[in-house]
Amino acid sequence: MSRVLHRTLFADPMLAVRGEGIYLHTADGEKIIDGSGGAAVACLGHGNARVNAAIAEQLSKVAYVHTALFTNEAAEELADVLLGDEPGGLSHAYFCSSGSEGMEAAIKLARQYFLEIGQPQRTRYIARRQGYHGNTLGALSAGGNMMRRAPYAPILSEAFSLVSPCFAYRFQRDDETDEQYVQRLADELEAEFQRLGPQNVIAFCAEPVVGATTGCVTALPGYFKKMREICDRHGALMILDEVMCGMGRTGTLHAWEQEGITPDIQIVAKGLGGGYQPIGGILIGKRIIDAFRAGSGSFMHGHTYQAHPVACAAALAVQKVIREDNLVANVRAMGERLAAGLTERLGNHRHVGDIRGRGLFQAIELVTDRATKATFDPALKLNERIKQAAFDRGLAIYPMGGTIDGKHGDHICIAPPYIATAADIDAIVERLGDAVDDAVASL
Ligand code: PMP
Repeated sequence: MSRVLHRTLFADPMLAVRGEGIYLHTADGEKIIDGSGGAAVACLGHGNARVNAAIAEQLSKVAYVHTALFTNEAAEELADVLLGDEPGGLSHAYFCSSGSEGMEAAIKLARQYFLEIGQPQRTRYIARRQGYHGNTLGALSAGGNMMRRAPYAPILSEAFSLVSPCFAYRFQRDDETDEQYVQRLADELEAEFQRLGPQNVIAFCAEPVVGATTGCVTALPGYFKKMREICDRHGALMILDEVMCGMGRTGTLHAWEQEGITPDIQIVAKGLGGGYQPIGGILIGKRIIDAFRAGSGSFMHGHTYQAHPVACAAALAVQKVIREDNLVANVRAMGERLAAGLTERLGNHRHVGDIRGRGLFQAIELVTDRATKATFDPALKLNERIKQAAFDRGLAIYPMGGTIDGKHGDHICIAPPYIATAADIDAIVERLGDAVDDAVASL
């Protein structure tokens, strides 16, 4: 029995002993396709020699320095690679060890920004239902997964309120055009600003493509532009959480590029280091940096392992491979193949209500009935059954039991490494299709 606490306490998961490309090998000799890179993390797959060499080299140079005393080459070069041409006006980076830490830093940086510019009354944040921003208390307070929030509700921050996400499959009304639905959501956000007092709002927080709660939900065209306009009108910041959907995953380096907007603060993590080291970060707009420069000059926040040299060296190598090997173009091509394959194999399945996503970030949502979109009884654990059935067929995929307004929903996320070939994608589709059939048959 494992003595390491896993998501399900006292579970005994398979023992992974080696990774190679898109495959993971277990102690029992199983060879499994890593069809979701964990939780959309392993963007280069496993055992990348260039990344491993960069980590070893950094270890041999210097493993650790504290940012109160030194900067380091890997962190500086990583910031240059990410921010060289100031994408979207983002000019500086802060590196931490996870997505949740990045979210905490974004929350605090945004609050301190308004102190720097003399607006201390701004104390409120607006985030979205079905959003996920991490499991630390600040990030969870911004989160809209009601099952994850429930045990901790009494200790979450009241600085956050939640509005509806743009989730057309579930919440667009039959008699509503796309424009009308987007306008309804804009009206709701505007009303929330008015309820809180627009002068009191620090930021609106959202994932450009929703990941961990309901699986790869893209917004309708024009939605983010409208949200950006509302933030601008009220002088609030826009914080975009690209922990899961960023760093090339959706077919552009940043998911916001496809929305025609730019954030004031962006959180990145998973695809930043591809799992080779724990690393997250925030990318920060120049006007925020300028305010700090003109003001206190210091961010009242930080962690011991901030801008860790080995983590930054790993991320730097990952980012160089993505660029040198033109992998974002492969994400676009393979993403189209994956979406088309899933649609062909599962599009008419009586229990597959929706297939959605962007790039190599695709999900299926399971329903009892496609007409009513009713969800399965959570006790059936359909998403877990699909996970197990996929394992039995040599495929690892990421099950999400995210909530749809408080109720359990069964979602499966498919997020293969960016190096996936057409044959890899076809194998994933085939194995997943069979796994869904097996799991449904077992009900
Ligand atoms: N934000 C988003 C959008 C995420 O998907 C996640 C992780 N699934 C997080 C934040 C938290 O990241 P971490 O688990 O690294 O703390």
